[in-house]
Amino acid sequence: MQDYVIGIDIGGTMIKGAFFDSHGALVEKRSVETRVDRGRDAVLQNLIAIIKSLHTTKGQVLSVGIGVAGVLHPAKEVLLQSPNIKQLEQAPLKKLLSEALQLPVFLENDANAAALGEQWAGAGRELDNFLFITLGTGIGGGFILHGDLWTGENGKAGEIGHMVVATDGILCACGKRGCLEAYSSATAIKAVRCVFEFAEFIKWRFFYY
Ligand SMILES: [Zn+2]
Repeated sequence: MQDYVIGIDIGGTMIKGAFFDSHGALVEKRSVETRVDRGRDAVLQNLIAIIKSLHTTKGQVLSVGIGVAGVLHPAKEVLLQSPNIKQLEQAPLKKLLSEALQLPVFLENDANAAALGEQWAGAGRELDNFLFITLGTGIGGGFILHGDLWTGENGKAGEIGHMVVATDGILCACGKRGCLEAYSSATAIKAVRCVFEFAEFIKWRFFYY
């Protein structure tokens, strides 16, 4: 019997899940829309459904590791702040999921988890110091300094998406103005493209009539 672990990435747009063997080899992956518009219970149901769908009869699932976009309480049990998944803020995620799944559940900020993954098995294997950047609904960062994850005094060191890059700039989902992710996240880039496409559409209609 093989031992397996499940890795989950909760983003503002998609929840991605994958099944790995004990050597870290990918066995299977799935994804489902996060659907934050449907509220906390719907997001949690999607999350539990994707994890359960990754179960196997071929071996034993040892634990579930979850990366989530946002700032976690230092005890890593509750998501404190998540501008793009506000529905999960203050939810006792670790307790809810471990009870629903009857498995040990570990939570980490998504970019921190990805940085640790790159350090273990990816582009950071030979490096003691690097910054991993996630680019999706928002922008996140995970620092590896002197070989260890560095989260700073308040656990927010990697939250580079909310660095202000334009004073009094565009309103960000976090409530501040001018954050990096309000300009450079995939969502922001897509929105600008939509504006250009709409302008092009108007221009051609105007020209035609
Ligand atoms: Zn922000």
